[in-house]
Amino acid sequence: MFVVFHACSGAPVRISVKPGTLTVALGADTVDTFDACGRWLGGVEAGRYWRRGLDHRVVGAGRGERPARLLGAGARDAVLDRVHRGVAQIAADLAAGRLAATPGTSPCDVAAIEQALTHAIAFDPASLAADAQRFCALYGGPIAAFPGELYRAVYLQTTRGCAWNRCSYCTLYAGQRASVLKGDTLDQHIAAVRAYFGPALQLRRTAFLGDADAFLPGAAGLLDQFAVLHRHFAVGSETSGDDRHPLAAIDAFGAPDSVLRCTAAELGELARLGLRRVYLGLETGCEPLRLLLQRREPLTDLRGAVERLHASGLAVGLTVLAGVGGHAWQERHLLETTRELRQLDLNDRDIISLSPLDPDPHSAYAAWAAAEAAQPLAEGEVLAQIDTLKTALADGWSGGAPRCAPYDLAALIS
Ligand code: SF4
Repeated sequence: MFVVFHACSGAPVRISVKPGTLTVALGADTVDTFDACGRWLGGVEAGRYWRRGLDHRVVGAGRGERPARLLGAGARDAVLDRVHRGVAQIAADLAAGRLAATPGTSPCDVAAIEQALTHAIAFDPASLAADAQRFCALYGGPIAAFPGELYRAVYLQTTRGCAWNRCSYCTLYAGQRASVLKGDTLDQHIAAVRAYFGPALQLRRTAFLGDADAFLPGAAGLLDQFAVLHRHFAVGSETSGDDRHPLAAIDAFGAPDSVLRCTAAELGELARLGLRRVYLGLETGCEPLRLLLQRREPLTDLRGAVERLHASGLAVGLTVLAGVGGHAWQERHLLETTRELRQLDLNDRDIISLSPLDPDPHSAYAAWAAAEAAQPLAEGEVLAQIDTLKTALADGWSGGAPRCAPYDLAALIS
């Protein structure tokens, strides 16, 4: 439903309530969107846009700017305060009769809008901060990583941490023991995630299985986990007809050697149960650079995993690090990564996720870069490398071009 409200003076206010969202547009250049619980998801104002993660991080950028930047606490709170005051003012104007709906608007629609505004007002900046703590507590802390294009997925922690934990540029799960959630523990985790989202779950039509390797439990364990997932989600359905939440598909991170421990028949069964795409870390197609990065598996494992996933009806996502190896490796990284991706026989169901390398300053990679004086690429050079890869991978695929995923937004579940 979409309703225009007119004030005696000033710009009209356009408000729409759809399943899962409330959108409020003020004048020509301010739009804010909230989920069905009233959490602000993001907005635009005067050519700048922002997106809020459920962990309370906010990224923003101006028109044409990239990449989007993570806002500091002060700037974030100023944006949240502006949004909250704006929506509270609209609700107050409505209540006081200073805003009137376009003649002919159903009173039920106006009542639904007033109700949705009440939810949004309840989430003042302090309430959003407290809500973010609830969200992070679901996963034992902020979600460390997931593909940026899946920002509206329901993140489910079927495994925790990373069993490898040795890549030189990565400290995401440092000090954590990898583990698998099984049976009742997984059931309770999913129930808690569903309870957190409540009616806002309507907005989320895919799930993502984290953390680093959903295949850690092995095929039998993963199939057991899917049985639990199916108790909560009607996977592959538009509607469920019961209290399960409908999901179009499930995606996951996977380690190539873990994937290769599954037979094609087992992977095919997972595809039948709704698994759609498995994201694998290529990072670079340059084998010596991969060794330097202490990647877990040789490229032959990655190729084998892609082939088996494809043969089982599953799509793949491949993550590639832009800027890795700095100037010293730039040429080889570009050339050999493009060549490797071309050899993987990707198709238009697959995704190539190009993300700028952002190593922890305390990582082994940062120490190597400093010791070797491996001059890092400047931000503009990293973005140029991403553009070069996108151009090199744009066409000439017999099965249709894989999508190069957006890279200019910080990875926020929002
Ligand atoms: S496999 Fe992934 S999560 Fe594990 S250490 Fe390497 S980059 Fe980090």
